[in-house]
Order: sequence, then structure tokens, then C-alpha cells
Amino acid sequence: MPTLRLPPLPNIREILKMYHLRAMKQLSQNFILNENLTDKIIKKAGILSDCHVIEVGPGPGGLTRSIIKREPEKLIVIEKDKRFKPSLEMLADAFAAVNGKMEIIFDDVMTFHMENVLPSTETKTWTDKCPRIKIIGNLPFNVSTPLIIKWLRAISEKTGPWKFGRTRMTLTFQKEVAERLTAEPLDTQRCRLSVMAQAWTQPILHFIIPGTAFLPKPDVDVGLVTFVPLTVPRTKHEFAIFEKVTRHIFSFRQKYSIRGIETLFPAEYRTELGQMMYKLADLDPQRRPMTLTVEDIDSLVSAYKYLLEKYPNLKFYEYRTSRHIISLSQAKNIEVVECTN
Ligand code: SAM
Repeated sequence: MPTLRLPPLPNIREILKMYHLRAMKQLSQNFILNENLTDKIIKKAGILSDCHVIEVGPGPGGLTRSIIKREPEKLIVIEKDKRFKPSLEMLADAFAAVNGKMEIIFDDVMTFHMENVLPSTETKTWTDKCPRIKIIGNLPFNVSTPLIIKWLRAISEKTGPWKFGRTRMTLTFQKEVAERLTAEPLDTQRCRLSVMAQAWTQPILHFIIPGTAFLPKPDVDVGLVTFVPLTVPRTKHEFAIFEKVTRHIFSFRQKYSIRGIETLFPAEYRTELGQMMYKLADLDPQRRPMTLTVEDIDSLVSAYKYLLEKYPNLKFYEYRTSRHIISLSQAKNIEVVECTN
């Protein structure tokens, strides 16, 4: 694939030295210095020419440089740490020298409204091919799981960058998280995250990047995942209720899945309503959580909704274990309950 020739620039190691940039642990900063690796990562994001690309957490700009070489229509980077201003501006200037457009935004990706920086002219209908918008990021580990849950919800609601159609994202995760996101039924890694990701997208695990490729080296390896939003989601239900039922199912991973389902109901009705859910869903209550497909869980959600309609008070029931943390509760003279699901 042809790549753009940029004016000569210092490499990332030199940039870190020039601007005295040291990785900050509290922002989960682990930089990729090897340009061959950043090129390989960006290749997996697909065609970028003519696209509006949003990069999350560009840091000193390793991946950013590889994105620019693929000539996007416009690159928007969202970074929390203002120390990277000079190095990102240097890249923006180099891109501008070859008529490229790069916008640098210092903000928190958890709260930033990406839809406000994307042009409505790129909007496609959901069933059309993907819009010319891509989200890319070597995500900070400390926000990657809440962020993907937030974005899966946005996909299910067709809000944020998914207002424009089936926007693809290519992101890094801690290896275990990447494997969970893509785990199929019967895989030992199968969990709530697998089901949630696969209900609305097709997650593809491209490859594992060894921790040694980062500076500083994190304790874990890293997986690169692309999420392609599904034209037809594998569930017809809303995100919140689907997530709730999935969470309960996986709250007792090693037991029969009915064990977790029962905790949707107050103790006195658990056995009866749990059995009823499986009858309505036409499923064997002895199935283990990790064997259930997205469609099986969709049927259980339909059954749960039916019971909620029949017994509206059930929706106010929230399961909590009463595992008291003795020392703390005694010290403060309060009951401390810990939610395990
Ligand atoms: N993209 C660079 C690379 O691959 O070398 C840096 C990756 S580093 C793992 C994560 C980056 O995300 C850091 O630059 C960090 O400052 C930034 N970051 C952390 N939390 C963020 C947040 N909530 N919003 C935006 N950026 C954030």
C-alpha cells in the first residue's frame, strides 16, 4: 500500500528526549517506539484515505505518524496530557506541509463528544457500507474496559460516532481482555464482555503485541482488536436489560447458568421464576454460562421481560450479597454490602 512521504522528523525516542517526556503511570502511558510496529497496527484499521480518523490517546505520536502516512482526509487526535502538545503540533505541521489536516484536542475521551467533530456529510444508513470514519487507539489500560462498554452501548443506540453509521474501531487492550472480547461459546475466556461485544459487533483479534514493544514495558502483553458493528445486531433488546441479564448469568461462572439467573429474583420466588425463564426460553437450565450463545441470552432476556410485564414489581429488585466487611462495618457501625454481580 503506498504511503505518504513526510518532511524529515525526529523519531519518537528522540522526541521523548527533546521534550523531556516521561511516561506517567497514572495515565497508563506505555509508548510504542517501533515505526514498523505502528505501521503494522494501522494497516489493520483498513483503508484510511478519504476517511475522518479519530485517534484516542496519541501520546508522543507514534501511531499518529503511521496514520498520517496513510493520508486520511482529516485526523483528529484526543489526548488528556498537554505535555504532548509540542510533539503533536510538530506532526500536524508536517502533515499540513503536504496539505493534510490534523486537529489536536486536549480532553478526556471518556466524556468527549466525538460526534461534534465529525461532518454530517459522512452519514450513511446503518445497513449501508461503513462510513468513512475510523476510530483508532492504543488505549490506556485504566479506561479501556469502561470505554468499550460505553462505546458498545453507543453502538446499540446508534449515538455518538455511530450516528454516522457502522463506524469501525481498532483498539488495543490488555491481552486477556482482547481474548475475552473475542471468546466464542465453550472458550474458557467466555464472559460478560464477550457476549456484550458480540451482540452488537464482530470483534476481530488481529495479533498480540509483546509487552517488550512498549516503553515502559507493561506487566502484560497487548491485543489489537477491530470491532465491526453488525448490520443486524444479534439481540433485539436494549443494552441495559441485556447487560443486566448477561451480568447475572456470568456471576456464577462455574455453576449451572440458572444459578445466576435466579438472582434476578427475590429469594422466595427464585426457584420458580428461574425455572420459568428457562421454559419460556426453551433452554436447559443446566447449561453452563460459557456455553450460552448470544441468541440463547437474547431468549432469556425475552423471558425476563415477559416476567417483568407480568410482575412489574420485579424490576425494583436488585441482588446484593451481604458479605460484610467486618472490620470496616464495625469501625463505622454500618452495614457494608459488596455487589458481586
Ligand atoms: N498512542 C501512543 C503510543 O501508542 O505510543 C500512546 C499510548 S499510551 C498507552 C495511552 C495514551 O492515552 C497516553 O498518551 C495517555 O496520556 C492518553 N490518555 C490516558 N487517559 C486518557 C483519557 N481519559 N483521554 C484521552 N487520552 C488519555
